[in-house]
Amino acid sequence: MSPVRGLARCFGPWATIVLALALLLACGAPPPPTAPAVAATEPALVAQASTATPTLAPSATAAPAPTEMATPQPTATAAVTPLPPATATPLAAMPTATPAVAARGEGGVPGPAAPTPPAVLPTLPAHPGQRVVCLDPGHGGPEVGAANGDMAEKDINLAIALKAADLLRAAGVEPVLTRDSDRAVDPRYTGNSYRGGLTYDVQARIDICNAAGADLFFSIHNNGSGDPGQSGSEVWYNVQRTFSDRNTALADLLLRNILNRLRALGYPAVDRGTKEDTTFRIFQGRPYNLYVLGPGVGARPHVPTLMPGCLGESLFLSNPSDVAMLSRESTLDAIAGAYRDAALAYFQQFPE
Ligand SMILES: [Zn+2]
Repeated sequence: MSPVRGLARCFGPWATIVLALALLLACGAPPPPTAPAVAATEPALVAQASTATPTLAPSATAAPAPTEMATPQPTATAAVTPLPPATATPLAAMPTATPAVAARGEGGVPGPAAPTPPAVLPTLPAHPGQRVVCLDPGHGGPEVGAANGDMAEKDINLAIALKAADLLRAAGVEPVLTRDSDRAVDPRYTGNSYRGGLTYDVQARIDICNAAGADLFFSIHNNGSGDPGQSGSEVWYNVQRTFSDRNTALADLLLRNILNRLRALGYPAVDRGTKEDTTFRIFQGRPYNLYVLGPGVGARPHVPTLMPGCLGESLFLSNPSDVAMLSRESTLDAIAGAYRDAALAYFQQFPE
């Protein structure tokens, strides 16, 4: 018997109503809807190439290196809409943010950690005794990356990854691809960068590599900049991992191989160096590294990769000479060969 019904027997129905109301007050009214966990200070962030194609006309007055690596800035006019909890709202129902900042999907932009694992993980076989290299073609589906005319970074990255997979397989190394077609890796991501759930997508890439037990991780990208004068190759790595020495060595191997391969084609690719990603972006005074490379602690906790890795930016789609090279099949073959060679050299350098 409930306490309220017991009191009704003693004091009659009116007293019951009064007492029930008193009980309700004592227990407290139902809590008001709580604010989503994500702080309402997130900037409006959108995918770079979904907004505009860089102008190719060189400009002598272009500001120095306003690259896509520029620190994202919140705008005064953009409505700040917090992300809802992971399971509360279908992505399709999310509001569309006003494009305010061109940002890349590498994961260096501040954003919430993926609160839940990806919806679907592929069933991957074990690879006992065989080296496994996880190849992550950057972007895909709604996430275009850099673009120039009808050339999209997501397509170039995929072409390089597929070629690298063939080359690795031929060399006796098992490739694992985070995607092998033009799609988001996590189907819950339907565009609009972090506001649309990009964190799911980048986390899914990490999870696939981890589930495969990969020995190495390559995130395959090409670059873009608002300054068409920017060109060349660079490779990013992280120094906050227990295997940072390997990350550093791998990044150096990849950059050397990319430059050597491009120069063997007669192209004087600019050496932009290897770059440590601890302060890949500074947002509101806080440093953010690349999501797929970082340790997953600090401002954006998440499950990190379990293996050494690096992120290659072969050439700039926004540079006339670089993009002309990227339009050639032989260039994509060369870059894919660089990934293969870097992996093989790494396995020689670190046999265990
Ligand atoms: Zn990219």
